Amino acid sequence: MLIYSHPVCRKHENENDVMLPHPERPERLDAVEAAIERFPADRYEAVEAPLGEKSDYELAHDPRYVEAIFSQAPTDSGVLRVDGDTSLNRYTIEASRRVVGAAKAAVDEVLSGPERRAFLATRPPGHHAGPCQPRGFCVFNNVAIAAYYAIRHHGLERVAIVDFDVHHGDGTEEIVANSDAVRFFSVFQHPFYPYSGIPPLADNCFPIGLPNMTDGEAFRKGIEESVWFETLRDFRPQLLLFSAGFDAHKNDPLGGWLLEDEDFAWLTREAIAAAGGDDLPVVSLLEGGYDLEGLEDSVLAHLKALDGDAG
Ligand SMILES: [Zn+2]
Repeated sequence: MLIYSHPVCRKHENENDVMLPHPERPERLDAVEAAIERFPADRYEAVEAPLGEKSDYELAHDPRYVEAIFSQAPTDSGVLRVDGDTSLNRYTIEASRRVVGAAKAAVDEVLSGPERRAFLATRPPGHHAGPCQPRGFCVFNNVAIAAYYAIRHHGLERVAIVDFDVHHGDGTEEIVANSDAVRFFSVFQHPFYPYSGIPPLADNCFPIGLPNMTDGEAFRKGIEESVWFETLRDFRPQLLLFSAGFDAHKNDPLGGWLLEDEDFAWLTREAIAAAGGDDLPVVSLLEGGYDLEGLEDSVLAHLKALDGDAG
């Protein structure tokens, strides 16, 4: 497996509210790093995330939006809020370009082999960012850029996105709705921020909304009883992308669910099995997850499942 990261991803910061640290903070990557250190060293290669290009963003975003964000980003020590809970600092653009560069490189690598699995230990996250809108700690939609990169540059005709962040991936859905080449699967707390997802925007989107206090048993039942696995089997994706949020963990301060590490591993394994199994190219991109211990343990469980550990 390939694991992409870059030190600048730790330097992007959101503006804190008075007395309260912003939940999407640099220390999250320390927790992810701790998980990687617990993963067997002979099972992965650490790769420095390359720099994506400004033009890559136009795969998923309006060029005017890309220009507006790039030109507004601070060049001094200031922090600019671009949404109620999303900010830019002087490192945000480079951090974001490392995420996009890693996403492209990871897609290239898993499609060409021999490594079929990649994980992006990067921030800022992306799944709430719409075609022209920052939202919910997200400025640019990394997973949508990865999907359209695979479609435009590798000619793929079938890309599946599985989003298990506790929040609906509204930005991703806005971008991929009605795309013939993409199927979007999102499981999320409902009703809950960002209050979207049900009904879906288009027939290529497969939402599962489950209530506050959903535990692992209800989570697995909700997914097993949905159309997800049969739809993945019928679709036979050439690439599977995970929007890997871990804020459904039972200790997460934002999410209202009660999942444990093994529940994330279960979904990872089952989605891969339904979508194509061991040879399936898979790239997983970090989204949410705000309890640092829960994040560390959940990322480790997810990595093992990505690597093919039967659990
Ligand atoms: Zn989230």
